[in-house]
Amino acid sequence: MGLLTFKGGIHPNDMKHLTCEKPIKELAAPDILTFPLSQHIGAPAVPCVKVGDMVNMGQKIAEAPAAFSANIHSSVSGKVIAIEPRLHPNGTEVQSIIIENDRQDTIEPSLKSNKDYKKLSSKEIVDIIKEAGIVGMGGATFPTHIKLSPPEDKKIDYVIINGAECEPYLTSDHRAMLENPEDIILGLKIIMHIFKLSEGYIAIESNKPDAIAKMTEYAEKETEVKIHVKALKTKYPQGSEKQLISAIAKRQVPPGKLPLDVGTVVNNIDTCASIARAVSAGMPLIKRIVTVSGDSVREPSNFSVRIGTPFSYLFENSGGFAIEPRKVIMGGPMMGTAVSSLDVPVIKGTSGILAFSEKMIGKPRNETCLRCGKCVLACPMNLMPNALNMACKAEDFERLEKLHIMDCMECGSCSYLCPAKQHPVQSIRIAKQKMRAMKK
Ligand code: SF4
Ligand code: SF4
Repeated sequence: MGLLTFKGGIHPNDMKHLTCEKPIKELAAPDILTFPLSQHIGAPAVPCVKVGDMVNMGQKIAEAPAAFSANIHSSVSGKVIAIEPRLHPNGTEVQSIIIENDRQDTIEPSLKSNKDYKKLSSKEIVDIIKEAGIVGMGGATFPTHIKLSPPEDKKIDYVIINGAECEPYLTSDHRAMLENPEDIILGLKIIMHIFKLSEGYIAIESNKPDAIAKMTEYAEKETEVKIHVKALKTKYPQGSEKQLISAIAKRQVPPGKLPLDVGTVVNNIDTCASIARAVSAGMPLIKRIVTVSGDSVREPSNFSVRIGTPFSYLFENSGGFAIEPRKVIMGGPMMGTAVSSLDVPVIKGTSGILAFSEKMIGKPRNETCLRCGKCVLACPMNLMPNALNMACKAEDFERLEKLHIMDCMECGSCSYLCPAKQHPVQSIRIAKQKMRAMKK
């Protein structure tokens, strides 16, 4: 049978061999941890602790002030030593809570485990997920409780767990599927229970045959529900929600709409495992798996890391730099964000940290568009990146509207392929920001 996929896309060298066989190492928490109040899409959380307070591991330290937000919990026990602006991985100064680790890992006593999730109502489960501060951990950081509580008129009949991990270099989801399959299956069953579904899907790219085999083995043990493990063609951006839904459910999410508008809910692998831990063990989101890789890193690795750990600490634990890095990226090389300091902390959406040398980055070139059309063929959203690029440079916002600029998901496929080294995605990103600001 042919592998499931979508139209368009590209085939970058995935470079996953650097870490795909590196088991997840539990990284000890550092002495000082930084918790930005904005680690999610939506309103920043509001501190519910003050300087000088002692906190426990798993204790809520900042509260969501609105439905569209997420709580933040301490990943260690210790003392709040400051609440002040600190550099965020996104390059801005963000109000943050700084905690000095007391190395006791005293667990917050109010955390409550649930032996049988089936005894809980959908609302009770969503409330647990909300309280646990869980957000999309693939990088999007959309609050998960919002995703799992659609309006009553939107019936969900497809639940998909996204194990595509199509970004080059990243292998944190791959390792999670090999090492924590029980948590992933439990998380999926909990989500299915919320929507009263008896079938669910796990979608994995074909370049992870061991993960497909492992998840199939565990899915086949289920007797009360049916879990389908589906192999996807290895192609970027296979893991983007709209492309995944098209491949698995054969449904198209219309421009400006969400997966729930076509009856689907998609969650990332680590998010799914975090749901399992929050519901069964009562543990909020305080840890995540991070891939550390790139040609500058001496020992590329996968770590289980406390939220709030500085990037520099992860690089130190990866043997330091073999070559001086010219660029450090949070996330994958296609959609990730370049960071300006190694002092920034791991946040809920940090799936990877990559460090690249000058040789890998190459010299910037900006030649004239050759009108070769390669970017148009690759665009998974059926846009015209070359025309968008020109309209962006001309700041022709009317034309950009007509070219559906807002449908661009900033996957970077156009820039990756361009033989003239044009950077449509960069111009598009800047133009979108300007257009949003003008609308406000
Ligand atoms: S791939 Fe580059 S050179 Fe070719 S049409 Fe697109 S922008 Fe122009
Ligand atoms: S125009 Fe946007 S969606 Fe299309 S390939 Fe470029 S970055 Fe991806």
